[in-house]
Amino acid sequence: MSELLIRNGHLVDPAAGIDEPRDLLVRDGRIAAIETPGAIGSLRDAEILDATGCVVAPGFIDVHVHLREPGQTHKETIATGTAAAAAGGFTTVVAMPNTTPVNDSVASLEWMLDSARGSLIKLLAMPAATLGSNGVDITDFAALVRAGAVGFTDDGKPVLEDDVMRAALLAAARLGVPVSQHAEDTRLTGGCSMNAGPVAFRLGLRGMPVEAESRIVERDIRLLREIERAEELHPHLHVQHVSTARALAAIREAKAEGLHVTCEAAPHHFTLTDEAIGDYNTNAKMNPPLRAESDRRGVIEALLDGTVDCIATDHAPHASHEKEVEFERAPNGITGLETALGLALHVLHREHGMPLSRVLALMSSQPAELIGLRDRGNLRVGSFADVVVFDSGAEWNFAAAASRSKSKNTPFDGAPLLGRVVVTLSEGRTVFRLND
Ligand SMILES: [Zn+2]
Repeated sequence: MSELLIRNGHLVDPAAGIDEPRDLLVRDGRIAAIETPGAIGSLRDAEILDATGCVVAPGFIDVHVHLREPGQTHKETIATGTAAAAAGGFTTVVAMPNTTPVNDSVASLEWMLDSARGSLIKLLAMPAATLGSNGVDITDFAALVRAGAVGFTDDGKPVLEDDVMRAALLAAARLGVPVSQHAEDTRLTGGCSMNAGPVAFRLGLRGMPVEAESRIVERDIRLLREIERAEELHPHLHVQHVSTARALAAIREAKAEGLHVTCEAAPHHFTLTDEAIGDYNTNAKMNPPLRAESDRRGVIEALLDGTVDCIATDHAPHASHEKEVEFERAPNGITGLETALGLALHVLHREHGMPLSRVLALMSSQPAELIGLRDRGNLRVGSFADVVVFDSGAEWNFAAAASRSKSKNTPFDGAPLLGRVVVTLSEGRTVFRLND
């Protein structure tokens, strides 16, 4: 039996509505007790973790990461990507399927989830919605869910055809999992490498209109409504990395109508605008792209009013030689696991007054609910001891060179962050300790 007592911390568990000083006892990888300070008493063999001055919260859950294994291990591996996640306070991540080969079969899903891959934390995956993410033939949803799939997506690309998306929503609804959509009408974005607007005009680059995102969101919502009317099913659409006020307005309305739509927002979309591209900085290139200030404000507003269900990083590592090319040729994506908490606290909590417990709900209990996890994303007795201990007042500057990720492609090198992870526990094991 192994015991760990985390004492003198300020415990925030959004799922239970706790936001006060509490001691927490971990036994054999699970939460064993939560008591008022000092009440747990002396335990002869327990290891003690003094959390004085720190917040103790459920480990974070990221429903959208790219770990690049198999096939692109020069960018990242499951071991390095989950080490970066642990350093950022994450204890569960959901791997996207755009690996090489695409994760579209039970064999590839099992390979990815095998403990031999060296994940430091809980690794889950959303396999492809269509074979090879070709947008044509849907994968074997039932077999993949039995093998552990928590949803389906062709992320990196949209499921573009109405009939294919309808089939995916129907199949997923019967299994009680979401279809996660990368909402981009690629008929409107060919040859585009950033957001449409004055910055694209100044740089002489082709820009993606906001309608490329909102049209797919509106189409998917229409499909949901049609399915609800015709079948006894309640399909779940999850919209990934929403970046425009227009798509968020459609999601807000659909939620009010009672449709099962959820969505995620990425820290870069609530922190930066397309101005961050400056003089063709490829570390500010991702898809969906950084948008105008009005869209950044729209994302923040939707986070504040509850339209957005969770914060997801879209962690997308690329090697420096791949990013050090002309802007239009550079791959999309930035790393994000180690800067998510610091940006969320800086922008949402400090600048926009979002209560700490709400920020943490967006990173723990709400993503857990989205993918149906009951024993993670909360600190209930009996749940897995996935715990993050962080100093919520720490102001520091992120250093990309010190990142645990194999790749350093971030626009936040040197950026001021608020809040710093001190210890991360995954099922009771210490998987990150600051200054180790
Ligand atoms: Zn995407």
